[in-house]
Amino acid sequence: MATCTQCQQQVMTNVTYKAGRYAWLMCLLFICLGLVLCCCLIPFFMNKFKDAYHTCPRCNRVLHIEKRNVVNDRHNAQLDPLK
Ligand SMILES: [Zn+2]
Repeated sequence: MATCTQCQQQVMTNVTYKAGRYAWLMCLLFICLGLVLCCCLIPFFMNKFKDAYHTCPRCNRVLHIEKRNVVNDRHNAQLDPLK
């Protein structure tokens, strides 16, 4: 649940996934590893590698973008006390 800044309502955000820089990075990585051509397209089919766009279902305003990148992964790992 999130509060939309435009309609000031508690809304369940719609989440759409778009291939961001991280998906491209993983694609390049797979190519470097010498995998067959179709394998380097895997990042584009896995939402894990994509940026998540949280949008308001009422006004379609983008409320939050969860960027996937290497820096964030490292940052999250440091914040997690169990690791
Ligand atoms: Zn809204």
